[in-house]
Amino acid sequence: MRERERLIKLKNPKLRKIRLEFRRVLLKDYQKRLNEFHEERARLQAKRAALVLSYDNYLLAVRPVIDQASNLRKNFSASIVVCATCRDIEGDHIFSLRDKVWYCLECYEILEKSYMKEIEALKKLN
Ligand SMILES: [Zn+2]
Repeated sequence: MRERERLIKLKNPKLRKIRLEFRRVLLKDYQKRLNEFHEERARLQAKRAALVLSYDNYLLAVRPVIDQASNLRKNFSASIVVCATCRDIEGDHIFSLRDKVWYCLECYEILEKSYMKEIEALKKLN
């Protein structure tokens, strides 16, 4: 682990449980909000299919919905709540300065090893 990378480690089982419950609440809220965007998009598609909306007006209405859903997904994936790779919500997470996302320790270790191998391979080429 490089010194500037940030590891949030909890040993106390009660605190781990509280953290997990908090992450579950945030995950549920994320899924609910994402579902609302999907429903809004489906409503707009139905209006378009019924010719209530012109194609241009459909695009004007659906674009912000798609953008908001995309931002929500991006922000949630980059949050400490989930591992950016395996989606773990239970374990300790570490922030990667290189990737600007949080990983569980297992994924972080695998990615670091892979990254170091890549660096070594590039050094041999030069
Ligand atoms: Zn992981």
